Amino acid sequence: MLSVAGLTRRFGEHLALDDVSFDVRPGRMTGFVGANGAGKTTTMRIILGVLAPTGGAVTWNGQPLSAEVRRDFGYMPEERGLYPKMKIREQLGFFGRLHGLGSRADERADKLLSRLGLAERAGDTLETLSLGNQQRVQIAAALIHEPIALVMDEPFSGLDPLAVDAMVDLLREEVTPEVPVLFSSHQLELVERLCDDLVVLSRGKVVAAGPVSELAAGPTTTYRLVVGGDAGWLRDVPGITVRDVAGAAALFDVGSDDDGDLVQQVLQQAMSRGPVLEFAPERQALSDVFREATR
Ligand code: ATP
Repeated sequence: MLSVAGLTRRFGEHLALDDVSFDVRPGRMTGFVGANGAGKTTTMRIILGVLAPTGGAVTWNGQPLSAEVRRDFGYMPEERGLYPKMKIREQLGFFGRLHGLGSRADERADKLLSRLGLAERAGDTLETLSLGNQQRVQIAAALIHEPIALVMDEPFSGLDPLAVDAMVDLLREEVTPEVPVLFSSHQLELVERLCDDLVVLSRGKVVAAGPVSELAAGPTTTYRLVVGGDAGWLRDVPGITVRDVAGAAALFDVGSDDDGDLVQQVLQQAMSRGPVLEFAPERQALSDVFREATR
């Protein structure tokens, strides 16, 4: 497991990270979100050893992360950092050899390029590719040595939905269950779809962390009902608070101490009055969680 514990980082007077702690669990895609300037890139740079923390530590399976272990990490930095004038197959092979893949490096490069639909461009230089294709090569460079952990800064920014899906498929294929994956993104809908876990950073502090399913779903006391006729009768049901009624559709709250009885009573009453077209808890969207957490 990859963990950061009590990380702080100052830039002069500015405290960019303030006691940041979280875990990136193996086999889990962990989304790292936060407004501009929240400290995501700074945290990732510290994890990769590009930047030293002012305080705190990065650990790998409970031990301080050594340079030797870190060499086996895959990193896709924000500033990218491939060679624009080098041919892409040559470049990926080069990175593979740097990581000790030896003669397997070219084989891996070919596999990844073909998997990304770039086999025919293998002999082209990076700068001649579209930005989306350059990004695919960046992902391939992060994956070339079969990393033991993967850290990616905004890997999906600027990609069209099909390219995102292709990248996600590749990640799912390449990343084995032992590999922790951390990636930052401003695309919350994407994060909700892809991530198992989430870390929300706001002004250098972790303000929410945990499984996306729990953070997004949360405990809800709000329900949505759509009936065949008019839902106005709901206003007369004792024990509930009607938030909104618009013709056949209504939104209502049950108290947080309801053990489900009241919800069942409302449903039965609705069914006794006619067809029920929809009856479901109203889940909080991740964007609402994010807005609340970073307010
Ligand atoms: P974004 O979503 O915009 O990429 P971020 O969450 O990655 O933002 P960081 O780039 O980590 O945020 O920046 C966190 C804070 O630290 C910002 O206020 C930024 O201006 C500051 N900062 C980052 N790097 C430096 C630096 N080298 N020198 C001075 N301040 C810095």
